[in-house]
Amino acid sequence: MHIFEFIRPADSAAAINAATQSTTAQQGAEVRFLGGGTTLIDLMKLNVETPTSVLDINRFALDEIEDMPDGGLQIGATVRNSDLANHERVRRDYSVLSQAVLSGASAQIRNMATTAGNLLQRTRCVYFRDTAMPCNKREPGSGCPAISGSNRTLAILGTSEHCIATNPSDMCVAMATLEAVIHVQGPKGTRSIPIGDFHLLPGDTPHRETVLEPGELITHVTLPPPIGGSKQVYLKLRDRASYEFALASAAVVMDLDGENIRYVRIALGGVGTKPWRLPEAEAALTGKPANAANFRQAAEAALRDARPQSENKFKIELAKRCLAHALETAANG
Ligand SMILES: Cc1cc2nc3c(=O)[nH]c(=O)nc-3n(C[C@H](O)[C@H](O)[C@H](O)COP(=O)(O)OP(=O)(O)OC[C@H]3O[C@@H](n4cnc5c(N)ncnc54)[C@H](O)[C@@H]3O)c2cc1C
Ligand code: SF4
Repeated sequence: MHIFEFIRPADSAAAINAATQSTTAQQGAEVRFLGGGTTLIDLMKLNVETPTSVLDINRFALDEIEDMPDGGLQIGATVRNSDLANHERVRRDYSVLSQAVLSGASAQIRNMATTAGNLLQRTRCVYFRDTAMPCNKREPGSGCPAISGSNRTLAILGTSEHCIATNPSDMCVAMATLEAVIHVQGPKGTRSIPIGDFHLLPGDTPHRETVLEPGELITHVTLPPPIGGSKQVYLKLRDRASYEFALASAAVVMDLDGENIRYVRIALGGVGTKPWRLPEAEAALTGKPANAANFRQAAEAALRDARPQSENKFKIELAKRCLAHALETAANG
């Protein structure tokens, strides 16, 4: 059994100070913050994560959802996924986020899981979770057995020759369409990171998944003011109806002007190495009639660069249908 020190820092400054001693905020970090623990403790039991210190951040005042003066919403880092999904304003103004969070995991896990922890959840690639196997993400340079092995659930967009792991989060896909901003506090002060810049593509450093540096604590996430009257849809396709990760998912925020699309934001889940926003499809659809032909064309373009492996070619057509259906549901909703 891995031995570690469990610490309850007095405040966020003490937590940041302690975490700054870590050589990385990525795979192999010696110091880890603890949110709900539904990812971290899982991986510690498997010896995939072996921090020497675990810092409990649950007593800090980071568990509120608050209205912002500009009409947006501020979500604290330790707000539980259940509280987020069921919050009155999230259900009314950002329903794609509520739908996405409620489609994930189980009620019990959502009661524990936090907003920041969800942003940082790890891939479900079976080789990553098995220390008997090589894995470039877990042990840089050791190889990627998934490319020639079990890859049915893995990514087809944003992959590299070093890693094809899917980002498993539903919440992050919805947040991509809402253009969320992640706020962190670290040894050098605070900074704000648009969600599109937060997760990294694997490239030749798959062990580096986000732009976080040692000591940086996510304090909250902000959502810009809602798009009034917009239709919002999160469609998740998976092997069973609940308690399962996405094979493909699509988040859509759309506003129509008559029959034409005035505003649209789209992202895919389950197919990308990071939450997969589709800015080109958004631009191509804006101003066009909201009809099935245009939606299918956008879906075809969105998957044009897909690179499937031996077992996951089916995801290309699945993702196209998922996206086209989500767009139609939003347009007709
Ligand atoms: C059986 C099962 C099924 C699941 N199904 C789904 C699903 O269908 N869809 C889905 O999206 N997710 C699913 N999940 C994943 C779940 O959503 C995540 O485990 C959860 O969101 C992680 O949140 P947490 O607070 O428990 O994170 P933790 O385990 O506490 O932390 C995760 C990581 O984030 C870091 N961290 C936590 N808080 C901060 C902070 N404030 N600043 C910096 N770093 C921080 C930790 O150090 C750790 O590295 C499932 C999980 C399980 C166990
Ligand atoms: S896909 Fe990524 S996480 Fe999975 S074995 Fe390859 S390197 Fe590891």
